[in-house]
Amino acid sequence: MDLHFLGTSHGVPSADRYCQSILAQTAQGGILIDAGAPVMDLLLRMDYPLTSLRTVLLTHLHGDHTNGLLSLMDLSAWYFQTMSYDVWLPEEQILAPLEKLLSIVVDDTSYPTDRIRTHIVSEGVLQDDGVRITAFPTGHMRRHDRPAYGYLLEEDGKRVYISGDLAGGEADLPAFLTQEPVDLLVCECAHFPAQVLLERLEHVHAARIAVVHVYPLEKYDVLHAARPELLFPADGDVIRV
Ligand SMILES: [Zn+2]
Ligand SMILES: [Zn+2]
Repeated sequence: MDLHFLGTSHGVPSADRYCQSILAQTAQGGILIDAGAPVMDLLLRMDYPLTSLRTVLLTHLHGDHTNGLLSLMDLSAWYFQTMSYDVWLPEEQILAPLEKLLSIVVDDTSYPTDRIRTHIVSEGVLQDDGVRITAFPTGHMRRHDRPAYGYLLEEDGKRVYISGDLAGGEADLPAFLTQEPVDLLVCECAHFPAQVLLERLEHVHAARIAVVHVYPLEKYDVLHAARPELLFPADGDVIRV
């Protein structure tokens, strides 16, 4: 499994970082986790075979994880008509406005729900067809009583966990990470002090840990000084698992 880091920024893009988006390329096809970056533009610049994309997972409905979804779905609908994939949305409330918006921007075309299929995420296994995808809730939007998720991807004995955004002040990674090893943990570091994350990571069984969505940027130095083996992927980097 290759993880292409399309966007690694926190809530706001910068000169060299798009907002959050990762493409996990598996033997079964591509799984896009979050769409904060202009994902369709980036896939085209990569010369990515678009028919390979089979799943889109959103961790939660903040704009820095979702705003590239509209152009992806728009262009999949009217132009790249061989594309066919499932979109997992964390909240039902986005569905009607999204469909309405797409019906407006995809002029003269009824939206192809047979090719681009939307589903609502709930905790547990979402798909298990060569790659198993399991959703774990996080407390990131708890104070607004809204859901947010991290995702475990498993393929051929390889396990990757992508944290999504975590609860403010807590770095509430799921408990299974203290019991069951993963090959790669991709974790955010914007919503709690670096020290809080470092304490959590003491108990996590991960062969490698990549930290993204870092803010403020001084945290890079704190994290690197404490754990020099931590990875800090930049936009365009690829990690093979
Ligand atoms: Zn975020
Ligand atoms: Zn967020």
